Amino acid sequence: MAGKFLMVGAGLSGAVIGRHLAEAGHDVTVVDARDHVGGNCHTERDDETGVMVHVYGPHIFHTDDSEVWDYVNAHATFLPYKNRVKTTSRSEVFSLPVNLHTINQFFRATMRPDEARDFIATQQADTSITDPQTFEEQALRFVGRDLYEAFFKGYTMKQWGCHPSELPASILKRLPVRFTYDDNYFFHEFQGMPEHGYTAMIESILDHPGITVKLESVFDPEQAGDWDHVFWSGPLDGWFGYELGRLGYRTLDFERFTHEGDYQGCAVMNYGEVDVPYTRITEHKYFAPWESHEGSVCYREFSRAAEPDDIPYYPIRQVAEKALLKDYVARAEAERGVTFVGRLGTYRYLDMDVTIREALDTARGFLSCLDRAETPPAFFHAPL
Ligand code: UDP
Repeated sequence: MAGKFLMVGAGLSGAVIGRHLAEAGHDVTVVDARDHVGGNCHTERDDETGVMVHVYGPHIFHTDDSEVWDYVNAHATFLPYKNRVKTTSRSEVFSLPVNLHTINQFFRATMRPDEARDFIATQQADTSITDPQTFEEQALRFVGRDLYEAFFKGYTMKQWGCHPSELPASILKRLPVRFTYDDNYFFHEFQGMPEHGYTAMIESILDHPGITVKLESVFDPEQAGDWDHVFWSGPLDGWFGYELGRLGYRTLDFERFTHEGDYQGCAVMNYGEVDVPYTRITEHKYFAPWESHEGSVCYREFSRAAEPDDIPYYPIRQVAEKALLKDYVARAEAERGVTFVGRLGTYRYLDMDVTIREALDTARGFLSCLDRAETPPAFFHAPL
């Protein structure tokens, strides 16, 4: 028998789960408080310049997961795009992620790969750190103090609002260190950008006769009983009216400006030093290198602690948040009729490809619960 399911949030999680359930013959409604689908992946053409803008900050699709890659390619034409990031520090521009060019420029050297590897291992890396736990230990262990202070320390303090010794090593593990001139920011096999932006891709995922999308529609948890099951991709604590307190997030402020011609000559320029107040500038036309625009639109990106009315971006996940998270998870597990999904629903720093992978697994897991007449769990992916 067809079920009646609600997705709260029209971002990647809601769209992918909704589509899967609609294809299995169920009735799906997707609501979102915003006036567009796509969540924080939303892209929109800028009226003034015609440039496709990543409204909530840069999103570059990269994955090793061939099923996810096939999935997004079924809903959009992906064009080749390699993310090559630069960083400004100490009045110079360097290449990121840290690679042989960065190392040679920084140390005024002409080392070959083995020489650079040996130099970093013997003269830079702090080998007394055997099991790095924090961001700072990870950086000192693998690149050493000089590179850490130029490229990571200041940026990270601005981005996270705390000292890197208070952050987990996992945040830095997102970035590779290379002893070649390969400056591709990501090391995944598949990488690209949807030709017409992410919103068009997510509209295509939602385009199914079994799916009704309602925008500018705020869900009231009191209405949960109207549905056979709810998939909540809003903030986990938001489901409970924040009654135990708020899980901490970093939010972003984007200062938009336009420029005739090219402003910085690349998509992303980071600013490694703490005295420059923003973390990076993105020049959006470089995210669509197949297009050509005279004008340019750029965002200066500032990070700060999210207040209740701000858009939550990065879950903080430090000790205090983890303790509160544990309490919310215990509450969530006692709920019936709701599953918490995605970045906000599970309070994790998720890339787009992982979000889609988890959404597909959640939809399949949910359908098999229905088949076996089992109660679907609150989480298919544990937040802790
Ligand atoms: N990071 C840094 N310097 C940089 C770029 C990144 O210290 O120039 C650190 C920072 O703490 C950041 C983390 O590495 O939060 C992960 O970087 P990534 O580029 O993956 O961040 P995102 O684009 O997801 O914000």
